[in-house]
Parts: sequence; C-alpha cells; structure tokens
Amino acid sequence: MSQPLPIVLRCTEALLPKIRYVFDTLFMACGVPVIYLAQPPSTGPWLLYGSAKEVSWPLDRCLAIAHCPKSWQLFDSYADIDTTTHIFGLTTVFPEKAPGFDRQSDIPFDLVANAFYFLSSWSERVGSNKEQTRCIYSNSIFVRLNIPQDIVDQYLELLIKQLHILCDRLEIEKWNSLEWPQGASHALILSHDVDFIPANLIDIAKQGAKTILRHLVRQRDPVDALRAATGLTLALLQKRDPYGCVPEIIKREKELGVQASFQVAVGHRHPNDVNYRIEDDSVRDYLRLIPDAGFDLCLHGSYRSTEKPAWYVEEAALLTQRLGKPLGSRQHFLSFNYDALFTAQEQVGIQYDMSMGFPDRTGPRAGFSYPYFPYCLKEDRPYNVLQLNLFLMDVTLRSYMNLKGIKAWEVIKSTLDELRHKRGCVSTVWHPIVFGGARDPGYDRLFWEMINYTRETGGLATDGRSINAFWRHHAKNYSSF
Ligand SMILES: [Zn+2]
Repeated sequence: MSQPLPIVLRCTEALLPKIRYVFDTLFMACGVPVIYLAQPPSTGPWLLYGSAKEVSWPLDRCLAIAHCPKSWQLFDSYADIDTTTHIFGLTTVFPEKAPGFDRQSDIPFDLVANAFYFLSSWSERVGSNKEQTRCIYSNSIFVRLNIPQDIVDQYLELLIKQLHILCDRLEIEKWNSLEWPQGASHALILSHDVDFIPANLIDIAKQGAKTILRHLVRQRDPVDALRAATGLTLALLQKRDPYGCVPEIIKREKELGVQASFQVAVGHRHPNDVNYRIEDDSVRDYLRLIPDAGFDLCLHGSYRSTEKPAWYVEEAALLTQRLGKPLGSRQHFLSFNYDALFTAQEQVGIQYDMSMGFPDRTGPRAGFSYPYFPYCLKEDRPYNVLQLNLFLMDVTLRSYMNLKGIKAWEVIKSTLDELRHKRGCVSTVWHPIVFGGARDPGYDRLFWEMINYTRETGGLATDGRSINAFWRHHAKNYSSF
C-alpha cells in the first residue's frame, strides 16, 4: 500500500498542532504516509481521533482512537503526573477512556496525549532547575514511576497492530515498513566526542596517571589498571599518541568504508570542559583532518553553553571560523537546558542534535527509538532541529554501569537486536581517547564489533549528516515538519 492513511481529527482547534505532531512523528517512524481530512473518505481505511463515533460514519472501515480532553489538561499547567495505570498491558500516564470504543479493534485511551507527554520530555522540562543541566536516568520519571524506557515505541507498536487488524478485516494490503538508506532495516549513527588532545608528554603522563588511578580506586579493577598501563607503555614505545587518536580512527573508518560524526568543542567555561583550544593553530591543524577527509564535523557544545543564548552562538561561530560550519551537534557531558539548546541551534542553523540520552543508562530518554523533532511548547510547534537519540556511550557502559568485555558486548548486542526488531535509528558515542588501548582496554574493539554486527544483521552504520538528509527528505510528506 502506498496510499496515505486518511486521518480525521475531532478535537478543539487549539490542540491540533500537538495532535498532528504526534501522528506525524509516529507514522513517519513506521513509514505510513498520512493525510488529514475533514470528513471520512468515501472508500478505504481511515483513522478517527475523536471523543465519540457518529453512526452515519463508515465505522466498519475505521480505526478509532479515543480523544479524551481531560488527558490534555496537564499541558495547560506546570504540573507533572505522579501515578500511572495499565491499559492493554501498557503503562499510561493519562488513564481516561472514551465510552463506545472497542477494546479489540479500537484504541480506547488517549494514546496521542500519552505519547505527547513523553515525546515532549514533559517531566524533565517542568521539573528542571537551572542548576542541574544533566538529566540522570536514576532521577527520571522512568525510575520514579517504573515506566518502561521505550514506552513511545510500545504505543507505536499498538497503533500499528490495530492498523494491521483493520487492513486484514478489509482484506487490503498493508503499508510497507520504513526502509533506511541502502535498503537497511535499521540504522546506527556513529560518533566521536573529541574531549582530550594531549599537547605534549606532560599531558600524556597526567592522563596516564589519572586513568590508572581511576581503574584502581574508583573502579577497583587492578587488571584494567595494568592493561591500561601496558597500553600506554606500548604506545609510547611505538611513538604513537595513546589518547588523541583522531587520525587513527579516520584511517580505520576509511578502510572499513564507514564514516562517523566528530564532535569538536571550542568553549571553556567549566572545569569539565575539554583540554584543547581551537584557537591554537596546532590543535586546529590536527582537527582539520576531519573536514579534509570528508567526515561530518559537529559542534560539541561546552558544558555551560546553553546558560546564555549568546554562548552557544559564539561557539558555533568560532568553530565555523576555525574549521568549518557544523550542521550537527552534541552537548559535552550531555549538559544542557532543553529549550535553550534547541532555540540556539535553530538560530545558528544546527540541523541535528544527538544530546538526548542518559549518561548513566543505555536506551531512550524520550521513550522513542527513531529520529524526531523535539517540541517547542512556548510556540506550539516542533523545533527545526532533528533529534538523533543517544542510546549507547562507552562512558555509560564502563563508568556508570561498570561493564567491560563480554558483559558490555551483551548490552550492546541486545540494544542493537532490539533496534533491528523495531527498525529504528539511534546514535552512539565512542570517545577517541579509548582507541589507543591505554584508557578502557577492549572498548576500541567493542566499537568495531558494533559496526560489524550492525552490518551483518542488515543495518546501516553511518554518520548524523546522512540520516539528517534522509529524514528531512522523508519529513516533507508530513505536514507538521
Ligand atoms: Zn564531551
């Protein structure tokens, strides 16, 4: 089936932008084209989103989703929810149901309002305080109310299941699933955050001491301390840079025929910010390899860059001046204020961001395993910045979850298996510092294995730039974007 699915919305005018946004986001993720009509079509399947069914409508051809105005009231406030309920075995934050909606063939609760709650990251935005710019899984609504982390995927799965039941009933062809570039079933966006470039042997010695102490004291892992020390010694003997690793990564990726996005930082306003300065010609020349080799150059926004709108703008301008104009971005330490980030990114022409992930947990932060446009609540519209959710990070696995070797691989593999099953697309970050074998031994190998496994299982390993171009082309068919 290639015909768009007609959707008839029966709700107040004021809610239309949010409701269309949810339908467009969900149906885009599964490759079903949609069209909004004022009345049911004269033939074929259609979707009703309303509070009641009119008997004059062709209901035998319809998938009806309940619209419950009460479910939307929260979004007129600054409040958050404090309980959940279960419907169809799914966790919902808005429990209301509409009378007359059938449990077997319809969706009797307001799936759209529930999905909007998570896609808009409502909980972290209403609960945010200016001091805390990092969103941690262990403090999130997912832990607080025991909500599955992929909750929006689960809503989408129900939506598709009910749509397929309708197609079977009408004995019509189903829509094909979304196909990623090169016919891939799923896509993994590779990226590297350049956080450390040693200027000299003193920098290398300091980093070496810090790394070995971290393994010994914080991680209580003398084996990894020894392996890191051996890696460092070997690198020095071979006159290799054990920690910078940007040229080595580019060389290897070229050999494999893959390209990752590289995140380069230019701001220094916090002790956690990067050690190098793009103003130094030696640093600029070292990093120039990224654009020169045709790789995707992104802005790694500094720790405090979203505190003042001018700061982020300055950083984008400085990177543009020194290395080239970035189209993509990720925040260093995943530290940002939600609206300040996307507003600043729109202003400077950043088209895609990869900051939405939890530092301390793999998997989704907005419940969703597909690219999406975050929502601007103030102006009631999607931001024009594509979010490429961050699902897998080396630091998450090693430092927060204390995993290495086969245990780390099991988590990576199950994340990739689930992504393939859902035909999703998410991003990963592996820091260049692990590629010299002197930091978190074995983590370099995990990165290359992740690429191999993605390819072997029908997936595409690529950069943010390629997915952004693909998704924006696809988005032209959806009226919200
Ligand atoms: Zn960083």
